[in-house]
Amino acid sequence: MNAALDWLTKHHEDVVRGLAELVAIPSISNDGEHDHEIGRTAELTCDQMRDAGLLNVETLKVGNSLPYAYGEWLEAGPDKPTVFLYAHHDVQPVNFLDQWKSDPWKLTRRDGRLYARGSADDKAAISAFLGAIAAYRKTSNTLPVNIKMVVEGEEEIGSKNLLTFFEKYKQKIQSDVIVVLDTENVEVGTPSITYSLRGIVQLHVTVKTATIPAHSGGAGGMLADAALALNAILAKLYWGNGPVGIPGFYDRVRKLTDKERAAFAKLPSGEDKFRTEIGVLPGVRFANQEGAGLYETTWRKPAVTVIAQEASSIKGASNQVLPKAEAIVSCRIVPDQQPAEVAAQLEAFLKADAPWGAEVTVKPGGNVNWWMTDPNGPAFEAALAALRQGFDKDPVAIGSGGSIGFVGPLAQLFGGAPALLLGIEDPASNAHAPNESLHEGDFQKLMNSLVRLFDNLGKLKPGQVK
Ligand SMILES: [Zn+2]
Repeated sequence: MNAALDWLTKHHEDVVRGLAELVAIPSISNDGEHDHEIGRTAELTCDQMRDAGLLNVETLKVGNSLPYAYGEWLEAGPDKPTVFLYAHHDVQPVNFLDQWKSDPWKLTRRDGRLYARGSADDKAAISAFLGAIAAYRKTSNTLPVNIKMVVEGEEEIGSKNLLTFFEKYKQKIQSDVIVVLDTENVEVGTPSITYSLRGIVQLHVTVKTATIPAHSGGAGGMLADAALALNAILAKLYWGNGPVGIPGFYDRVRKLTDKERAAFAKLPSGEDKFRTEIGVLPGVRFANQEGAGLYETTWRKPAVTVIAQEASSIKGASNQVLPKAEAIVSCRIVPDQQPAEVAAQLEAFLKADAPWGAEVTVKPGGNVNWWMTDPNGPAFEAALAALRQGFDKDPVAIGSGGSIGFVGPLAQLFGGAPALLLGIEDPASNAHAPNESLHEGDFQKLMNSLVRLFDNLGKLKPGQVK
């Protein structure tokens, strides 16, 4: 292992060069116009997998999916655990170009950080995994564990084929433990393992009052205004600083344990920083419930957001009473809420007592379940020890307000395999935003920790990992 750690130190610039090659390709998945580039990052990921020492490397597809890169190394044998590694090679688009301080497609080193689209989310994960693998393969030529690595090409558009992919390649990818690098450390320098994720329940609401718009001179005051009716309905969701008023919404919400509450209280209070980072305007209060701080609110409380609203566009507006208005309402859900039940509660709430008897229809817009695991047991012990040494700091167990839909189903597919979500971003990474960046020091510490994690897991028998 020490030779592997030395290799990482000596070859850091090579690893960074690999990341620079990856970010140079604009593998944007959400506009449908960069499939060629996504094909190229899949191929490049395969080349880098081969260089690092993985075998049986290939691109894989399911149906009309964008390509996955796959590589494995199984020569540790059946007595050693098999570790499943997940990352994605597609990225978010680049907008607000005037705000980027350097070319988004050129990895640029500045103030201890590496800037580029995808530098953190999630191409750094590819480089980190392959750095740790190469460190072993280029020194002792062997690895302490078996490896199966999947790099997805459509994470940023909701991983719509991923569960089908897992089902199709079930035999091929079967593993004892899952490592995902696509979440955040709570702050620079503090290694963080994410053990809970929120889910999403989305509804599309349409309010109708008539078949055609009517001149507001002739109909104003008489015809029910669909835009106003929609907003009266949405206003019922306003919660001030109290609970959201949807009946039953909180009934199944799992309470924080005293241990969790104490652990959250020890984390750096991120609220002032959060205010600055989001650019909250002076005089605007946070909307959290009294007594619930940033972490409890964003990790373990459900939330309701209106993510789109449409009645008529401001450009070309005319004096009409609008007969139709629509909105998309999106809930972040938490353990132990049930997506279908939340959707039903929300639908009933939005439909009840429609203003002026307006016709309200609600269509489901897709759900992602929450995920939560118990961050204890041999795999977590192995990860905590590895991170403690790699970062020279005690790791923390945290939640995430975001959603990664596949973790639960994949763990289940592997018969209840533990899933280790290790932080690769930090609060300054600006994933999805201008000037995305990776903290280079933490990147090195993470690779150092991965080398140690493989070593620690290699001391366990496959049956002992859970
Ligand atoms: Zn990501």
